[in-house]
Formats: sequence, C-alpha cells, structure tokens
Amino acid sequence: MLQDKDRIFTNLYGMHERTLAGAKQRGHWDGTAGIIKKGRDWIIEQMKASGLRGRGGAGFPTGLKWSFMPKESDGRPAYLVINADESEPGTCKDREIMRHDPHTLIEGALIASFAMNANTSYIYIRGEYIREREALQAAIDECYDAGLLGKNAANSGWDFDLFLHHGAGAYICGEETALLESLEGKKGMPRMKPPFPAGAGLYGCPTTVNNVESIAVVPTILRRGPEWFAGFGRPNNSGTKLFGISGHVNNPCVVEEAMSISFEELIDKHCGGIRGGWDNLKAVIPGGSSVPCVRGENMRDAIMDFDYLRGELGSGLGTAAVIVMDKQTDIIKAIWRLAKFYKHESCGQCTPCREGTGWMMRVMERLMRGEAEVEEIDMLWDVTKQVEGHTICALGDAAAWPIQGLIRNFRDEIEDRIQVNKQGKASIAAE
Ligand code: SF4
Repeated sequence: MLQDKDRIFTNLYGMHERTLAGAKQRGHWDGTAGIIKKGRDWIIEQMKASGLRGRGGAGFPTGLKWSFMPKESDGRPAYLVINADESEPGTCKDREIMRHDPHTLIEGALIASFAMNANTSYIYIRGEYIREREALQAAIDECYDAGLLGKNAANSGWDFDLFLHHGAGAYICGEETALLESLEGKKGMPRMKPPFPAGAGLYGCPTTVNNVESIAVVPTILRRGPEWFAGFGRPNNSGTKLFGISGHVNNPCVVEEAMSISFEELIDKHCGGIRGGWDNLKAVIPGGSSVPCVRGENMRDAIMDFDYLRGELGSGLGTAAVIVMDKQTDIIKAIWRLAKFYKHESCGQCTPCREGTGWMMRVMERLMRGEAEVEEIDMLWDVTKQVEGHTICALGDAAAWPIQGLIRNFRDEIEDRIQVNKQGKASIAAE
C-alpha cells in the first residue's frame, strides 16, 4: 500500500487548508523558479524518464507528447490546454484535485507551459463543476496576488497567464479537439485529425491538451525526481494514480495508490471490501464507462494498470474509475443505460456514431426486456464492429466497447432472459 509520505495529493479529502498558505505548508510551490531555470529540455527529459502516462484515459506518454510541440516559435503562440471536462460516468478524480488541492494543478500548469513554450494556458472545466470552478478560481486569484502567475511568474523569468473556462455540460467536449472548438466559442464537435493539436490546435496554434491529474503531478515528480515516480508500479505503467471506486463496495472513495496494485488489495484496503463479500462480485468496469466490463472472478487477481487490463482482460485502465457491480445488478440494464448515455452525447456529425448509437441503444433495450431473438445478439455485435474504429472521434468506440464486453462476458444471461420471456409468453398463451 502506498505510504502517506509518497502521496502527491496531500489534501484529497479537504481535511486541510486548500489556500496558498496551506499548499505551501504541504510542500507545493517550493523551488518552482529553480525547476523552471533548469530549462525546457531538462523538464521534458525528466518527464520522459518518470514514465508518466496521460491520466485522462488514453495513457499516452506525457513527456513524449510535450516533445511534439515546436521548440522554436514560428511566430504563433503556443498553448497548454488542461482538460477538466471530467464527464465520463464513474469518473470523479480530477474533481477532488480541483476543489481540495488546486495548487498542485496551478503550479503544474506553469511548469508544463514553460516546458512547451506557452505563455498562456486554459483550464476547460466541466459545466456541472460549479463549486470546483469557484475553488480553482479562488486559488488562481491568490496566485496572481502573490506573483506566482502573471509577469515573471514565481520569479522564474517566464510570463504566464492561466484562464479558467467553464463548459456547458456536453460530454463530447472532453474529446480534445471538440474541447478546443468549444473554447474557441464554436459548437463542441471533434475535428478531423490530422492536423493534430501540436501542429494546429487552439486558434490554429500549437497546443497540447493534458488531463488535470497529468499536470497536477508534474511539480512533485520534478522535485522528487523521475526515479522516485518510476519506482511505483510495473515497467511502462509507473507512478502513483488516483483511483475512483464506486458501486457495490462498502466504502466508495477516491484514493491515490501505486499503479499496478491488485484489484483485491485496492478494494479490501480502501473500500472495505465488496458488498456481501467477494463471492457476491458479479462484474467490474475497471476504467470508466467506456471500457468493457470484466467478470468478477477474473478481476480479483487483476493488476490495475494499463497493460494488464488491456492485454490480459481485454478491457482498460482508462481513467481508473472502477465501477463495481454485485450479483444484484441487472448487468444488461446497466449496459443499456450506458448505451443510452452515449446515444445522447453523440455530436451527430458522423453517420456510424449518430445512427449506430441509437440503433445499439434500441436493441439493448429489447435485450434488457428479453423481447428479442437470440440471433440479434450477433447482429448487435456486428453493429458494434461497424461503429468501432469508423468514426471521427473515440466516442464511437466508447459506445461500442461496453456492449462488446457485455456480449463477451454475459452472453448466457442475455440468452436466458430471451428464453424466460418466450416461456413466459408461451405459458400465458397456454392458460
Ligand atoms: Fe461526433 Fe460521434 Fe463522430 Fe465523435 S464519433 S465526431 S461524437 S458523431
């Protein structure tokens, strides 16, 4: 189990002061100018060496992503945009950072922006996060007053402005290019790629979009050294990570843990176990609603990191939003509800997603009631395959994968429901 001395987020539960003075007491904003004075290349190399992979779901190496930004400006400004549009069902980790430990994020934004030659950074926060926006804005204001933001930020010699932008509640704005469109004042619709944001992002300028947690861990990594961070977890899956565990555990929580912790240890140590005991575990969605579910018996020994969950279980770590379901769960109904969510959130600009999400939701609804033919399970599988990988953005995949997980793992249950429904009708007819 991760020891308290190794926690990056020391005020995750809001037990201490979230003010600048409180943050400084806990070691934040310590030697920030010294870190910046070591130069861009040093920072990027340290980040690469730490092995940090993006915490927003895709798990792309953060240092490598930063290195895609142009070293010299061609006259255009560069931007860091921080994705705080945390809207995936089950995911609520960045919220704790923003409302209780906001200075980790602000200090990280300054250092990361300097490393990418950006004098300006935007935080795009989810529309529903009103209290979080207030807490974060108060922290930003404090930093301006204290000279940590603005001209010669934190005495580093670097001029840096940080703006907080409030979204309006559309899930798709969490897709990085839809987020940029929305930030520019347009409809939040994903862009075709290429060009990628590092070439032409916000206002057509070089831009990197990073998740809140990815940026908030940066100052501590640079202060403690990449070896320290890389010392947690398995190779290629290093560091500490916020896990958000919800559903049928005795004590749902958000907790910082070492990567590659076992699922059993995570649940027993931090969540007080599964409701009704381990034998009552039915299924787990290990990484937020867009990754396929896994059968309970396969999860107990699972290693909670990117490579294990994808390679061994055909699922994913995603945002580490762990949704636990016990045997009382109607898993078909649960996945139907997710299908309904993705149908509602599709921006509608590409046909497989616009039509496919509605189609999948309607079939799921009939499967949930048992009012379908067994052959339709295979038809539904085919439709998910026609949506997956054939759309502009990953929402198409996100809509297809939960259904694929259901069919792969709980096909027997779907078939049983169809049979029971048929038998019920037959016995009513016979009466
Ligand atoms: Fe819009 Fe869906 Fe296409 Fe993404 S996949 S661009 S959400 S229609």
